Amino acid sequence: IGYAQAVRRMGGQIYTHTEVRGIDVQNNKIIGIETSKGYFKCNLVVNASGPWSRDVSQLVGVDLPTESYRHQIIVTEPLENFFPMMAISFSGNFYMRQTQHGQFILGQGDKDEKPGINYNVTFRFEEELISKMVEIFPFLKNVRLMRHWSGMYNMSPDAQPIIGQSEKVKGYYYAVGYSGHGFMVAPAVGEALAELILFGKTLHTDISYLDVKRFAELNIEREKSVV
Ligand SMILES: Cc1cc2nc3c(=O)[nH]c(=O)nc-3n(C[C@H](O)[C@H](O)[C@H](O)COP(=O)(O)OP(=O)(O)OC[C@H]3O[C@@H](n4cnc5c(N)ncnc54)[C@H](O)[C@@H]3O)c2cc1C
Repeated sequence: IGYAQAVRRMGGQIYTHTEVRGIDVQNNKIIGIETSKGYFKCNLVVNASGPWSRDVSQLVGVDLPTESYRHQIIVTEPLENFFPMMAISFSGNFYMRQTQHGQFILGQGDKDEKPGINYNVTFRFEEELISKMVEIFPFLKNVRLMRHWSGMYNMSPDAQPIIGQSEKVKGYYYAVGYSGHGFMVAPAVGEALAELILFGKTLHTDISYLDVKRFAELNIEREKSVV
């Protein structure tokens, strides 16, 4: 909300519930976008469409090698605050933290999850995660569940973000494939992208290693610290 307010304060406009359906390219330059609310002239597009990043990129004919996977979360009733740290285990495949309101948020990865957009939730996830977590954290035994939801990880082949500008289509930028850790890097990415767009290079952080070109190499090392 703070970012949206700042955008509006500086004269920007935000169109919510507006789907980009086409990106108009002429002589390898962006000249406009077709949306569910009509056509807008522009010479710059940033693809930050998360789970839909590959489809949106296809609108300009650029392949971004991302795939989206469902991740589920369960949220308990609130308990008195006593757990100030985040618990995470890559070998145990779980993470957990207590919110300021006292609820515990619990999640785990699912190696059997198929790529694709899917916001359903499953009893299997609840059963697996709860039995594991109660064993590790016995205080959770009689705690009630309040919510169970799912969201999408937009994965890249090495589980690191793909950020940069297209060499093929002038004016096309992308910031996608956050692979489940995009929230925490969002402010830094925003700054770096703004610099890249304005000055043609970043001023504070070198992000060239995040460009999609890295996948041309044969040996891609996958980030292991992802649950
Ligand atoms: C269960 C779960 C736990 C997570 N935990 C963490 C965590 O602890 N720390 C962390 O840093 N990250 C975490 N993440 C990851 C984080 O939420 C994402 O990396 C981050 O939200 C990505 O932001 P984004 O803006 O790129 O994409 P999104 O937030 O997905 O936004 C993309 C937007 O693009 C819009 N869009 C798509 N297609 C179009 C189109 N054609 N036209 C117009 N708009 C379009 C969508 O409607 C959406 O609003 C978690 C994710 C999940 C699912």
